[in-house]
Amino acid sequence: MQDRADKLRCSGKTMAFVPTMGYLHKGHLSLLRIGKQKADDLVLSIFVNPAQFGPNEDLGSYPRSLERDLDMAKQEGVDAVFVPTDKALYQEGYQTYVELEKLPGHLCGLSRPVFFKGITTVVTQLFNIVKPHVAVFGEKDFQQLAIIRQMVKDLKFDIEIIGGPIVREDDGLAMSSRNAYLEDHMRPAALSLSRALENSRKMVKSGILDAKLIADQAAEMISVFPEITIDYISICDPLTLDAVEMIEGRTLIALAVGLNKIRLIDNTILEV
Ligand code: AMP
Repeated sequence: MQDRADKLRCSGKTMAFVPTMGYLHKGHLSLLRIGKQKADDLVLSIFVNPAQFGPNEDLGSYPRSLERDLDMAKQEGVDAVFVPTDKALYQEGYQTYVELEKLPGHLCGLSRPVFFKGITTVVTQLFNIVKPHVAVFGEKDFQQLAIIRQMVKDLKFDIEIIGGPIVREDDGLAMSSRNAYLEDHMRPAALSLSRALENSRKMVKSGILDAKLIADQAAEMISVFPEITIDYISICDPLTLDAVEMIEGRTLIALAVGLNKIRLIDNTILEV
């Protein structure tokens, strides 16, 4: 991959990169399409990164389907797919981790203590292997995107980071590889996330700007489903992720829940 990158760079070509954990869906494909427009060459990586999963999380059962992913990548005109083994990235004796000080101390980072350290470490490795000019990440994982932007700024990676909008199913459910775990009877509960976010946007449009009122209403709509456990509903500054009390300008509402042990996240921007 590094030789390939060097040759492309020597010939004056630009590279776009979309890192994923595979089990591709339309959300991933939308990022590939953005990448395709931004550079001459498009690289996709598929790697279920063990470093970002905690001991009781779904590393072992995370959905995988390489053949199908490779077919989809071909159809999108991807030029190279990088599928490293665990050992290739975390060779014996591996001991270097990249960790941010503040941004991981919010939202998903509170209940998933190793998550972002695992992500920033693997993304650093992938950037050094793929050597892209542009990398595309989804706003679905809003905190991840904020953390990658901060890391790229702090560590002076010469890579442009682009955020792609959340792609949803027709009924509003944010696409996710983990949706493969959802059974039909869980759908109404899963849909309560996007509905609660939609309702929050409506509240703001109608002039309700008190963050607690908005978060409480979202919690109420989701708690109708007893099979859901709310991890967090946060209304915060989209840059620092610090909680806010009032909606002023662009504000993020982000939430994460467990639905029969399936972790679902979603978010939207609230604008006055
Ligand atoms: P994952 O395979 O879940 O690690 O996701 C790989 C990339 O796809 C990340 O940058 C995600 O934010 C992005 N992504 C996942 N789901 C969606 C979605 N529904 N819409 C847009 N981007 C997404």
